Amino acid sequence: MATGHILIVEDEEEIADLLRDYLSNAGYTASWLENGDAVVPYVKKNTPNLILLDILLPGTDGIEICREIRKFSSIPIIMVTAKVEEIDRIIGLELGADDYVCKPFSPKEVVSRVKAVLRRCLSEPSEKVLRAGPVRLNEDTYQVTVNDNELNLTPSEFAILRALLAHPGRVFSRAHLINRVQGYDFEGYERTIDFHIKNLRKKVSEYLPNHDIIRSVYGVGYKLVPPE
Ligand code: CA
Repeated sequence: MATGHILIVEDEEEIADLLRDYLSNAGYTASWLENGDAVVPYVKKNTPNLILLDILLPGTDGIEICREIRKFSSIPIIMVTAKVEEIDRIIGLELGADDYVCKPFSPKEVVSRVKAVLRRCLSEPSEKVLRAGPVRLNEDTYQVTVNDNELNLTPSEFAILRALLAHPGRVFSRAHLINRVQGYDFEGYERTIDFHIKNLRKKVSEYLPNHDIIRSVYGVGYKLVPPE
């Protein structure tokens, strides 16, 4: 049985009820908020394990909420949108969300996405520290440091960096990385990997300006090149 506290942010009561039923049946504790203004204060106070975040809401919209939450937390966020076309826009805004679900969705599909995202965030501690030169990733504490400066990574960025650091020099395809990040293959989401990599590079390069540790391999994917 799964465990964890899922916050559903959704202004359509029927959808919220449906999600709550499915999540409860899967073993999760589910809370529901219908107004966007209530979300950030709630998250600061209650720290849920994952947020299912609708975009169009009364009060603050989902995009602004995601942006606000990322200022203080890397809690997993799955954005919910009514339009496939909006996914491009959401990705373009670089909000740091971990996954995207389009309405109408099957509640079963949402539950499996929730499971996949949580699996990689709450995976069992293995007491391992991965290193590449000045880059250190602690799998127990989810801390990543570069020259002892701590990076604030999203769960997806963390998962990608962990995969790359575990096998320096090995080339990972986008499909492989998306599977590491989301726990399943989904061709249409491969470009989200490019987006996560871009953000990851930006964060690492802040403290390691003269060496790009993540290299793209044309037509294949990415690999990690440790600094000398
Ligand atoms: Ca809505």
